[in-house]
Amino acid sequence: MELQGRIFDGENIMENGKISVSVDTGKIEYAEQAADVPKRYRDDNITFLPGLIDTHIHLFGTPERSLEGWVLTSDVILTVNSLKDLKNLINSGFTTVRTMGDKVSLELSRAEKLGIIESPRIISSGYSIAETGGDDDPKMFPLDFAEKISYSYYADGPWECIKAVRKNIRAGAESIKAYASSSFVGGGSVRNELSVEELRSISGEAKKYGVPSAAHAYGASAIENVIESGFASVEHGLGLNEDLAERMASGGIFYTPTMSVYKAQRKNSSAYRDSYIKRHLEKEVTIADSVGVKIVAGTDFVGSTEERHGNNYLEAVYLSQVIGNLKALKASTSLAAECLGLTDRGYIKNDYAADIIGVYGNPMEDINCLRPEKVALVIKNGKILKNNTGRYFN
Ligand SMILES: [Zn+2]
Repeated sequence: MELQGRIFDGENIMENGKISVSVDTGKIEYAEQAADVPKRYRDDNITFLPGLIDTHIHLFGTPERSLEGWVLTSDVILTVNSLKDLKNLINSGFTTVRTMGDKVSLELSRAEKLGIIESPRIISSGYSIAETGGDDDPKMFPLDFAEKISYSYYADGPWECIKAVRKNIRAGAESIKAYASSSFVGGGSVRNELSVEELRSISGEAKKYGVPSAAHAYGASAIENVIESGFASVEHGLGLNEDLAERMASGGIFYTPTMSVYKAQRKNSSAYRDSYIKRHLEKEVTIADSVGVKIVAGTDFVGSTEERHGNNYLEAVYLSQVIGNLKALKASTSLAAECLGLTDRGYIKNDYAADIIGVYGNPMEDINCLRPEKVALVIKNGKILKNNTGRYFN
């Protein structure tokens, strides 16, 4: 299969490029500058990019955003809604997503690998790992029932934390997610959760199995704990300051500011919450960027009405407003792949898997051309899953 036109290869833009894809191996054979791209292809104004990657989503499968809804929705409804969400994700150009705690993504990841659902590749973190009584523990229920219905494993002490990692790995998890702090979900204040000792045991066990570890952190003290305990990425990272950002940059730790979820409309805001978020959106991404922290795109969308899967391109839009279009594109492709430990995705280069999308317009000039209506072509592993270009590829 041959594609011709403008290419963003994960690093740079080529105005006239040619990509050759082997349909047999599903890999890119070559991608190069071409002298002879026909005029009709240039007139199409299509840009080919690596398939987009959202490094932080949840498949919660409920229209409303509530902890009760997330834990009480039946697995069947949850799965049916999640299948719709995954289809929306693939149609909007996302060829890989990482889930960060839910009850169905391990099995859906298996189904995707079997080729029986329309879905991005799912790097599943399985069940998130949190402390008993933490922010995502539905404390209105008795503990044994809460443990049964939760999307988290409650673990206390290093050994339970290690066991929780092993249970996830046993079930096929390709990433591990832990809570280093509370959040605003439970309505409480920001405080640390899981000790450094516990966090260290989690990231150490993840390392042993060669999967990336990610930690949810609100507040400077929680971010510091995450850095000290050897995690691959800081998720959300509200409260980032210069000192912590420098330590993240020198340690090669990724930062996922999940701007989209804070920009999404919320009914239950408070002055306390708003002050954290205001600083996060206005200062912290700039601080991270100024010292060279690797910033990646993750929406934290859960599939609710306000955080709809299919609108995940918004993270690139919000990031671009702070770090510019080129870095926002890298954050959504090559750097995101690196964050997930994927060495064969995220670039349009020789021998990389052929995850390629085509969008109308030039995202270097207008990042909004990543929005779903503009995504005309989606190829995953060399297979065309969507083609609205009017072109025939063979
Ligand atoms: Zn999340």
